[in-house]
Amino acid sequence: MVIATTLRVRGGPGARDAVWQSADMPADDRSPSRYSFVPGPADVVEVVSAEGVWLHTADGRRILDGAGGAFVGNIGWGRREVADAAAAAMTGGYVVPIWATPARLALVDRLVDRWLPDGFTQVFFTSGGSESTDSALRLARAYQVAKGRDARWRVAGRHPSYHGMTLGTIAVASHSHRQRGFEPMLIDFPKLPWDDADAAVAIIEHHADTLAGVIVEPITGAAGACLIASDDYWRAITDACRRHDILLIADEVMTGYGRTGLTWGHEQFPLEPDVLVGGKGLGGGYVPIGAVATRADIAEVLRTAGFMFFTFTGNDGACAAADKVLEILERESLVSRVAELGPQVEARLRSALGDHRHVVDIRGRGLFWGIELRCSRDAVVGAALARDLWVYPAGSGPVADAVMIAPPFVIDDDELDDLVARLTSALDAVR
Ligand code: PLP
Repeated sequence: MVIATTLRVRGGPGARDAVWQSADMPADDRSPSRYSFVPGPADVVEVVSAEGVWLHTADGRRILDGAGGAFVGNIGWGRREVADAAAAAMTGGYVVPIWATPARLALVDRLVDRWLPDGFTQVFFTSGGSESTDSALRLARAYQVAKGRDARWRVAGRHPSYHGMTLGTIAVASHSHRQRGFEPMLIDFPKLPWDDADAAVAIIEHHADTLAGVIVEPITGAAGACLIASDDYWRAITDACRRHDILLIADEVMTGYGRTGLTWGHEQFPLEPDVLVGGKGLGGGYVPIGAVATRADIAEVLRTAGFMFFTFTGNDGACAAADKVLEILERESLVSRVAELGPQVEARLRSALGDHRHVVDIRGRGLFWGIELRCSRDAVVGAALARDLWVYPAGSGPVADAVMIAPPFVIDDDELDDLVARLTSALDAVR
């Protein structure tokens, strides 16, 4: 079954230094390049439909979606029942977020009963990852203020990291390309090193009197291409936050909802968050939705603080679609499938690329893999696209160049072989 979409993606060489396309485009341009507000090279791909792990373009290409779009695709493309669920919920019209609707309640119940860690009973919906991480920063501050600790306002991030594109989340993260040009507008939040437990704890202790929270990606996404810290590191950070009642926020926008083979990425480590942030996979790529979840004791403190919603908090169509995405993940045991596929993906990548001249490191879990490069990532993304494969460009700070692989959880054996073969051919072709 194929669902028509109007998604248009850009990729290929030059993406990193791209400019707004619309600036130099003729007013009567009818090519896919007229799609504005997305930086990228001129060779825009127009995707008109999608099915399974394949994207179909207007000019007849079939592109293997090796990154689930932007790490959103988990149940695969073309699931009519997701659209049907959203359509059924959208007939009710708009309901202000302070009221409940059946779609909102159903999603909260499914999350609390089956997806969130024990004790996480409160959920705040948003329209995506950035709104969710930004809300988590706000939540940490509101929590401390409600406890009478007005001096606590900072949130420590990590270097490197990525948490979204609001000014708050750009500031708390450390992703040089995405911060460039905005520096004067960004608060200088403390940054923990990604792997050094002693140094990280020293920074937390140093700022403890003004720290409201610490935000971490359990496995780094686009900034570090799947950097994985040690268990000691996560234990030390968890303990330091507990000691000072600093809220530990796990940004699971990439790693959540089964991407690493467990429900949550933090479960891979002795990392115990107080606040859990998710986006991407919650809507499976079908709808824009994110969620911030926390424990009842923290939510109770916030009740006196007041926590302003967004206009589209709990949008009914999005909630119903997300509920269906989660139901499909459960029904088809897709998270266990990711856990089974993880070692197979690793074996294939290592065998094909372990000794490749352009490859520095291969790392990841489940269906979440980073390939650190000693050549230009844009060249690799472009060469892959020339072979009808989409891989995600990544890297910043200590990881200069990388590509990431994160296919939908329904990818089969032959498609996995195909993915690795196309990527290998792309890397071979890059000089
Ligand atoms: N947090 C992480 C870890 C991400 O990878 C991203 C996006 O890539 C975000 C937050 C922001 O999510 P969104 O792009 O949906 O706003």
